[in-house]
Amino acid sequence: MREVKPRRQPRRQPPEVRKKNFEEVSEGFTAEDALAESQRCILCKNPRCQTACPLKNQIPQWIAQVQQGHLDEAYRIIRQTSPMPDLCSRLCPQERLCEGACAVGIKHESVAIGLLERYVADQAAKRPELKDQPGSLKPAQAKKRVAAVGSGPASLAFAQRMACCEGHAVTIFERWPGLGGVLRWIPRFKLPTEVINHHIEALKQVGVTFKTGVEIRSVNELLNEGFDGVFLGVGASRPSSPKIPGSALAGILSSTEFLVRIYFDSETLPNNWQPMGSLAGKRVVVLGGGDSAMDCVRSAIRLGASSVTCVYRRDEANMPGSKKEVKAAKEEGANLQFLSSQVAFHSHDGSAVSHVECIRMELGAPDASGRRSPVAVKDSTFNVDADLVVLAFGYEVEPTLDEHAQLIPPPKGIIQINPATGATAVAGVCAGGDCVTGPSLVSTAARSGIVAAEGLLRYFAGESWEALATLPASTSQA
Ligand SMILES: Cc1cc2nc3c(=O)[nH]c(=O)nc-3n(C[C@H](O)[C@H](O)[C@H](O)COP(=O)(O)OP(=O)(O)OC[C@H]3O[C@@H](n4cnc5c(N)ncnc54)[C@H](O)[C@@H]3O)c2cc1C
Repeated sequence: MREVKPRRQPRRQPPEVRKKNFEEVSEGFTAEDALAESQRCILCKNPRCQTACPLKNQIPQWIAQVQQGHLDEAYRIIRQTSPMPDLCSRLCPQERLCEGACAVGIKHESVAIGLLERYVADQAAKRPELKDQPGSLKPAQAKKRVAAVGSGPASLAFAQRMACCEGHAVTIFERWPGLGGVLRWIPRFKLPTEVINHHIEALKQVGVTFKTGVEIRSVNELLNEGFDGVFLGVGASRPSSPKIPGSALAGILSSTEFLVRIYFDSETLPNNWQPMGSLAGKRVVVLGGGDSAMDCVRSAIRLGASSVTCVYRRDEANMPGSKKEVKAAKEEGANLQFLSSQVAFHSHDGSAVSHVECIRMELGAPDASGRRSPVAVKDSTFNVDADLVVLAFGYEVEPTLDEHAQLIPPPKGIIQINPATGATAVAGVCAGGDCVTGPSLVSTAARSGIVAAEGLLRYFAGESWEALATLPASTSQA
């Protein structure tokens, strides 16, 4: 029987240190760690990790190259399927994807696939000559004009595929002054700004044009302006806002406004928002239990808040987000109030929030998602003092386009596409990312950008739009 060594752990900033800075928490693998960890992989013939990866990365193939010390070849293999391994390796919830399916993980700790991918990608980033490898970017030769609306990972992957594959000229329109979509305001301790900037710069170098501060209102206008195809990567970043009494009080922000005001450069802050600044001495309450709630909690801690309380209506086992984010938040000193829900916001002076009225919950019968529904416990209200409240209840698609009626058949609230081609009901217009799935992941957004690019390339090669847009029988609506 083959001995499986313990999983290598990278150096991480200790909680007491990292809660005072915005540097990346994990320092990543050393060369020795990467070699030793790669050797834990048993190179399965039927790799379940690969099936579980949204991008279908050929994980055993590239890990075999790491085992041999062939990092350039490992990078080349990853880039065949992934447009952004440096981003995905940092942001994917690997425990729910590749590592959750790892065969080694059945009896031992799973192979650290995410950290290995990060090591390979970070080594490649130090070597500009790797850009010339197959699967990397090639200069555009402007055969067709293509527009992408939104600059998130879906559009970046789409643009990379279009520019790289056939050299089409891509223009990305972004309504905000900063590029990258949600990536621009994901906390820097998870994703350093340089990593996003690297992608944008690489795309600029191959001729992709970026126009910031431009909100596209009409897809038809873009087509009339002479674009041969359009990709909609408009995301789903409008904060969900349930009606809660007292919501109009000062000091209550959406998670979007909170994070954008922290992570956008002050000169590119949208909506006349001001930088968030220090929270020293402030009591912060975050409502919600997903990954964006944990991002807000951990950011508030780093801004020096005197206390950070997260109020979530289910128990810890039923939290929707990544377990490692919850663990990290606890290590950094967050106070997690499980089985509790907000009732109303109150103010001592009639203008700024002073406390959140909450109620205890218990878990009742399972709901449609299979999770047990929270039910309020009678006469159990309590108050949590707050100088700042952040609402992190999730996100939805924002209907910014005139053609929404054509693109979004009721009742879904998301743009309908043929998932095999990314084609919408409007000829020449495809879509991908969170606007077609609802809030999801960077890797799924990137994959759908690639699928849409391939769909549009088939259209340019002469296939009829009707054929590309027709939903497979199993997914079409009656
Ligand atoms: C706080 C937070 C943390 C997250 N953390 C993770 C994580 O750790 N791991 C992970 O995998 N995923 C994470 N996600 C999810 C991930 O960021 C998204 O799934 C991904 O960004 C979706 O990419 P997208 O390209 O579809 O859209 P987005 O990234 O939302 O980008 C869409 C862009 O389109 C622009 N836009 C919209 N309408 C128009 C218009 N009409 N004209 C011009 N521009 C327009 C928007 O301004 C936006 O910049 C997180 C999400 C949030 C909100």
